[in-house]
Amino acid sequence: MKILVINAGSSSLKYQLYNMLDESVLASGRVERIGMDSSIVTHEPAGKPEARQVSEILDHVTAVRRVLEMLVDAEYGVLTEIGEIDAVGHRIVHGGETFKESVVVNQEVKLEIRRLFDLAPLHNPAHMMGINAVEANLPDVPQVVVFDTAFHQSMPRTSYLYPIPTILYSRHKVRRYGFHGTSHKYVSGQAADYLGKPIESLKIVSCHIGNGASCTAILNGKSYDTSMGMTPLEGLMMGTRSGDLDPAIVPYVMNKEELTLSEVNSMLNKHSGMLAVSGLSSDMREIEQAMEEGDAKAKLAFDMYVYRLRKYIGAYTAAMNGIDVLLFTAGVGENSSALRKAVCEGLTFLGVELDDEKNAVRSKETRRISSESSKVQVLVVPTNEELLIARDTYDLVKRKLNG
Ligand code: ADP
Repeated sequence: MKILVINAGSSSLKYQLYNMLDESVLASGRVERIGMDSSIVTHEPAGKPEARQVSEILDHVTAVRRVLEMLVDAEYGVLTEIGEIDAVGHRIVHGGETFKESVVVNQEVKLEIRRLFDLAPLHNPAHMMGINAVEANLPDVPQVVVFDTAFHQSMPRTSYLYPIPTILYSRHKVRRYGFHGTSHKYVSGQAADYLGKPIESLKIVSCHIGNGASCTAILNGKSYDTSMGMTPLEGLMMGTRSGDLDPAIVPYVMNKEELTLSEVNSMLNKHSGMLAVSGLSSDMREIEQAMEEGDAKAKLAFDMYVYRLRKYIGAYTAAMNGIDVLLFTAGVGENSSALRKAVCEGLTFLGVELDDEKNAVRSKETRRISSESSKVQVLVVPTNEELLIARDTYDLVKRKLNG
């Protein structure tokens, strides 16, 4: 079975084609600048040179058509015919309280995703364009939707409710949802496999640290609490997002600086975090480089980033009354040995003991970086959200075919 995984944004569309026989990636790529002039398609077929095309792509229907043309192209293609695509899986940011797991797309599912537009106004409408574009190009191919929020639907009320008037929850669904769920689910499963233990027997704190960052407490294999909330702004300090702050800052700053709501929103999401404190960059590589050169603001940004993450790890250890596994994933978590070392240095009271040599090794494999005597297993687990989307799509479509 061959499965196309799509992550549609408002002006971009990323894709990966999987052969589920061995879970290999046959091709991947992206379409950028949809709806603008000079749209770009970058296509990377396995074992063949990369192809790049610049043309006008006005909408998502055309973007999907270009991707399909690439996949069967005489020179860059990896399929003989489009009919070889058995199913399409989509990444959807917000599934609200409706979607606790992945589902096959039908009219009702589409309506519900539409109802959730309010909760993710930047993302869900773009995902819907992706679904409709696939439907227009491949009307008979089943589609599956996989939600970033679904894994966190297991959180108890004590974790997901905000201590504000309950009418805001009943009327407007104001609550914590959490994000990066596909990643936290994937890496925690990988960690349990790597350790050869049933996931239900482990207390895991999973740190997904990329541009966006979130920390999740995983108890009995289920999300028990997570640091992102109603939106991805809550929780850890991130590349450009503030993470947790006193909400009274918002009206105060609006008043003092004469800012509109949308300006404050943009400040907290796009101009805060590591970028704001360092005054330099949101990219951890540049922060580390500047620290080495003695930049004090970069050092402060790094220290705050580490401190805030360590506090969450401590909080989630308390929430679960223990921790067996601490895992790091995503761009920063997988690559920055300095970040991992700094975080773990302050966790020795929990019995966390890093092996500095193992921590310094670069690898694309799941690996243990704690010492033999560490009470907590510290792992680096490369995330692969696309693979989990492909697996869910495969399972659901197979189940559907078997009646
Ligand atoms: P996204 O949240 O956009 O998916 P990623 O998970 O790809 O982000 O993470 C991107 C971040 O990973 C970059 O901003 C960069 O700071 C960080 N990163 C990537 N490689 C390294 C590295 N070698 N050392 C430190 N940080 C890195």
